[in-house]
Amino acid sequence: MEMLKGKRAVIFGVANERSIAWAISQALHGQGAEIAFTYAGEILEKRVRPLAEGIGAKIILPCDVTKDEEIDQVFDTLRKEWGGLDILIHAIAFAAKEDLSNPYVQTGRQGFHLALDVSAYSLVVLSRHAAALMEGRKGSILTMTYMGSEKVIPHYNVMGVAKAALEASVRYLAHDLGPKGIRVNAISAGPIKTLAAAGISGFREMLHYSSDRAPLKRNIDAEEVAQAALYLVSDMSSAVTGEVVHVDAGYNIMGM
Ligand code: NAP
Repeated sequence: MEMLKGKRAVIFGVANERSIAWAISQALHGQGAEIAFTYAGEILEKRVRPLAEGIGAKIILPCDVTKDEEIDQVFDTLRKEWGGLDILIHAIAFAAKEDLSNPYVQTGRQGFHLALDVSAYSLVVLSRHAAALMEGRKGSILTMTYMGSEKVIPHYNVMGVAKAALEASVRYLAHDLGPKGIRVNAISAGPIKTLAAAGISGFREMLHYSSDRAPLKRNIDAEEVAQAALYLVSDMSSAVTGEVVHVDAGYNIMGM
């Protein structure tokens, strides 16, 4: 049985075949969902379009989430083409490279604003647009976070602060949108080698450190995140909202 047959999902954050959003796209498609994709710029279109078309996507649009007019365009198209929406996947984050290597105390105003805008505020604006298309459809919104929001992870810096804002936003959005039957959740994933991860200084050490200390004694992969995503966007989690679900081989529970 296809769990998401007849459901329509828009996915923000596929950069290439290693993206967590791509693993989630494949899992949702495998369960019967129809998917619309966005990409963040012309260079990415060359990567995203063939992947998206390969799973039958018909709506593939540019969207830099710092540009309101591009966001409007995406949701106008979804309204015209689909008339409604069931699932929003938000798998977007960005911080300037120097802000992921210098000490956090050196973060400048512009770098702080950029990281918070792209990585946290974007969930708010995308959720507002999505909710307008989810009326009467038991919608589900899912974002991606990392435990650098809860504890200090050297070099994660302003991104940890952005993820803390993102997780708090999940709770406030869940409260606002709950009366409409819309659920909002996050997955806090362990480290996975992707394009975004490559921008974090010392990422390789993070992988070793996590697999040594996690109860399951290993790292995770994007497919495992995608399985948890299926749970969170489907009726299997119909009473779950405002949650941050850790998919990290248990790393976050460790004190020593
Ligand atoms: P990824 O493949 O590089 O995906 C990040 C996506 O964010 C890219 O598609 C990127 O596009 C997009 N993005 C950046 N700035 C944007 C903007 N202004 N407008 C629209 N899109 C923009 O890396 P990923 O690891 O799968 O990341 C997905 C999510 O998972 C992120 O929120 C990340 O923080 C989170 N996460 C990752 C890990 C990990 O270890 N990989 C762990 C926990 C959580 P561009 O390439 O064009 O910038």
